[in-house]
Amino acid sequence: MPAPTADASVTSNNPLLRPSPLPHSLPPFALIRDEHYREAFDHGMAEHRAEVEAIAADPDPPTFENTLVALERAGATLSRTSLAFFGTSSSLATDAVQAIEEEYAPRLAAHGDAVRLDTRLYARIREVHGDEAAMAALDPESRRLVERHLTEMTVAGAGLDESAKDRLRELNGRLASLGTQFEKRLLADSNDLAVLVDDVAQLDGLTAGEISAAAAAAAEHGHDGSWLITLVLPTAHPHLASLTDRDLRRRLHEAQSARGNRRNANDTTELVLETVRLRAERAALLGYDAHAAAALADSTARTPQRVLDLLGRLAPAAARNIEAERALLEDEAGHPLEAHDWAFWAERVRASRYAVDLAAMRPFLEAERVLHDGIFHAAEQLYGLTFHERDDLDGYHPEVRVFEVHDADGAPLGLYLLDLHTRDTKKGGAWMNSLVHQNTLLDQPSAVVCNNLNVPMPGPGEPTLLTYDETRTFFHEFGHAIHGLLARVTYPHFASTRVFRDFVEYPSQVNEMWMLWPEVLANYAIHHETGERLPQELVDGLLAAESFGEGFATGEYLAASLLDQAWHAIGVEEATRTLDVATFEADALAAVGLANPLVPPRYRSTYFAHTFSYGYDAQYYAYIWSEVLDADTVAWFRENGGLTRANGDHYRRHVVGIGGAADPLESYREFRGADADIRHLLERRGLG
Ligand SMILES: [Zn+2]
Repeated sequence: MPAPTADASVTSNNPLLRPSPLPHSLPPFALIRDEHYREAFDHGMAEHRAEVEAIAADPDPPTFENTLVALERAGATLSRTSLAFFGTSSSLATDAVQAIEEEYAPRLAAHGDAVRLDTRLYARIREVHGDEAAMAALDPESRRLVERHLTEMTVAGAGLDESAKDRLRELNGRLASLGTQFEKRLLADSNDLAVLVDDVAQLDGLTAGEISAAAAAAAEHGHDGSWLITLVLPTAHPHLASLTDRDLRRRLHEAQSARGNRRNANDTTELVLETVRLRAERAALLGYDAHAAAALADSTARTPQRVLDLLGRLAPAAARNIEAERALLEDEAGHPLEAHDWAFWAERVRASRYAVDLAAMRPFLEAERVLHDGIFHAAEQLYGLTFHERDDLDGYHPEVRVFEVHDADGAPLGLYLLDLHTRDTKKGGAWMNSLVHQNTLLDQPSAVVCNNLNVPMPGPGEPTLLTYDETRTFFHEFGHAIHGLLARVTYPHFASTRVFRDFVEYPSQVNEMWMLWPEVLANYAIHHETGERLPQELVDGLLAAESFGEGFATGEYLAASLLDQAWHAIGVEEATRTLDVATFEADALAAVGLANPLVPPRYRSTYFAHTFSYGYDAQYYAYIWSEVLDADTVAWFRENGGLTRANGDHYRRHVVGIGGAADPLESYREFRGADADIRHLLERRGLG
């Protein structure tokens, strides 16, 4: 390990300071203690700074080797530490881990800025890029490496003069702090607005488990003998589908919609307005007319206009479908609907028209069968992969399971870690992350990836029975895992799922198709007690009901996406003139024909964490953008015989096996023989 800033205080027994000796370089979790992370981050940043300084100050003329390859080799300790820490910090969010995260996140961000905005480094990369003969002699992945580094530094502002860069660093710092404040206020306001219920009869429709969770939440907040419904992120609270008490539904919906409101103690409106102003200023500094143009300069969409073209094309059809669904729902309800009625009557229509009873499916969705006979089985049929549990290897928590993955020819591909169940220290949601990146430059031939879900732990001796949605999520996250495991690249920059944000959801969405694929379903959906197969009428009902409810789902998603675009389409002057969040939001939704009080945006501005905190600013469109490719790919599999090795190998060669090493849309064209046809998305969502 190179240690240019060899520091006497570095302890010799910190396992993060050297490559892991374990199979596939799995981090030695049994040996890593919290304090090792602090030391390894400090040492890793110092080491990386020294290595970057040596490249930037190199007296030799810049070449691909002494600049780009040297950059790719730099920062090995920091990279190893970051992957191990951020790959587990959301699954083991103890107070100690959160304290490290709070302390190091801003320092790591400033460290990243220092590298990206280094004028000397930028000049060297431009010079390498400008040497046409040398560029032409590089292999395609190496050529792309030069282009990507140059583009990423350019859009970050590396080419600006020093005074502009000073302002840029200030803006980046202030914007990061506004994002943190937004998240903190939103959490506090969500807690303030939780809905307290005095009479258990009002909770009719909830399950016994949901009612006891509400009682426990009330007791925790000093309201013994009452019930507290805590709020979740999207506007539509899941309880709205089952609560029969209309008045309670109204209270819950109003609480959800009021988060961050100006009347509240934890108002977020000023944070929204300042964020929008500073983003507009930063975009102007970088030479763009608005933040959306700056954010999309480095994406597959490239320009906001192309995003608006897609969203604008879908919006009128979604609005028509909302009207058709409303008519059905009001017919079932026998009275005009209000926003808090929608989900409740949608469930009733699903049951009466399609006989879909998702609860009846659970005994057929036993987690071990779903994993081995569903998810792994599909990957074996498609790619020839095999999976063997390695009880001898430790995950970062005793509940984490470790599987070794082999290719069709027996070659080891890496490790798949699975952390299935909810626990107190795990954050909500489901995700995939990489713990070790495959790349040949640093002699790391295989990858380590991890899936997290939040499935409630069953009682002692009971099997884990998944819900329909959890099963879909499992297939989805495994799609990300496959993307990370199969990527074969030379440079760390392109490893695993390091692709554009508006591309990364595409392979995971495609993998969802195997959940209901007849051969796969027949293989795993078996009653855990009786051994019966899932009855065909349940499957038929599911397939028939697939596009029901798409009007609402597409409408609320498009409204949020277009709102996100609207906030970031304005320049500095308009951002400065915009003083009222609610008015701006209402005007933006009216302008796109989605100002329907029955179907509010999935997130209103004052609680739109994706765009004001989570880094999806001007990119919330990414989900449906990826779905154009997803739906077109599903059509390709169907046209070509579905679940076969030939199909899997073709898809792997052009899409899921290349990481970020090639242009994603060019690779798509090679895979499909054409650009994606939007027709398949329109059909799927009933928007034709
Ligand atoms: Zn995903």
